[in-house]
Parts: sequence; structure tokens; C-alpha cells
Amino acid sequence: MEENYIKIEIKPIIENISPARLCITSFLGNMDIHLDELMDIKTALSEAITNAVDHAYDNPQLLDKIDIETRILRDDKVKITIKDYGKGIEDISLAMTPAYTSKPENEHAGMGFTIMESFMDEVIVDSVVNKGTTIVLTKNIRKRKTNKS
Ligand code: ADP
Ligand code: MG
Repeated sequence: MEENYIKIEIKPIIENISPARLCITSFLGNMDIHLDELMDIKTALSEAITNAVDHAYDNPQLLDKIDIETRILRDDKVKITIKDYGKGIEDISLAMTPAYTSKPENEHAGMGFTIMESFMDEVIVDSVVNKGTTIVLTKNIRKRKTNKS
């Protein structure tokens, strides 16, 4: 598959989650990805963007934006990097524990990271308190050699 990428920057508000997701799925749709894999990526991506919107910016002093870079790599991998500049995660392994949420009062199920891990091949979380969080989601995609698959 030919290498390609898009980068988008959004203001971290709920209204922007859907347009951001639409932009990325439209980009991947043009790259001839199988529908089931596209749906998996869309689900994982939604969780990562929602987390940056819901959790990163409790403190209004912080630089509030989310950068999302989506790359198709030559070795048939999709790699999406979701970067925020918010409060960061103190204990990453606790945050990634199924059903853990720091906001149980707000109808959070604590399953975001678990969903990301089950729909993607690799989920890497890098976070620095008061500097922000970077999530890298990677998925190997099936080749489409001919126009019939
Ligand atoms: P939920 O979003 O339902 O709380 P998740 O599994 O998606 O559950 O995330 C677990 C926890 O990790 C969150 O409750 C939050 O404390 C922390 N977290 C996740 N993403 C971020 C982020 N981008 N910035 C700061 N904290 C985060
Ligand atoms: Mg979540």
C-alpha cells in the first residue's frame, strides 16, 4: 500500500469528536481498507479522542488542543497518534485496567483502553503529568491486491 497521511488539530470539545472521526474514516475509506477493519479502527479512535476531550483538560490553563495524525505505512499498517497537552496520567497501568475510571460519577464505564486494546494490534500510552498524553494505535490491515478481495 502506498504511504499516506493526514494530520488534524481540534479544539477539545465534544462537538468535534464526530467531525474528527468522520475525517479520518473518510481518509482510510479512500485507502481501500476492508470495512470490518475500518470499523475496528473507528471504534478505538473514538475512545482515544473521547478520552482526550473528557479527561485531559480539567484545568483551563493548559494548552487546549488535540493533534491527531493518521498514517498508512508501506507495510500495510495503520498508525494513529492522538496527542493532547493536558493534565497527563499519573498511573498508566491503573488507567488501563479494565473498568477503572477516575470519573465514576459521570457515567464513565472505564472500558476505553480495554476497547482500544481489543480492536487494535498495539496500543502505546505515553504520558507526562501536566504535559499531556500521547496514544499510538496501530493496526495491521489485510492487503487488497486486486480489485476483488
Ligand atoms: P473512562 O474514560 O470511562 O474513564 P478509560 O479506560 O477510557 O475509561 O480511561 C481510564 C482513565 O484513564 C480515565 O478515567 C482517566 O482517568 C485516564 N485517562 C484516559 N485518557 C486520558 C487523557 N487523555 N488524559 C488524562 N487522563 C486520561
Ligand atoms: Mg474513556
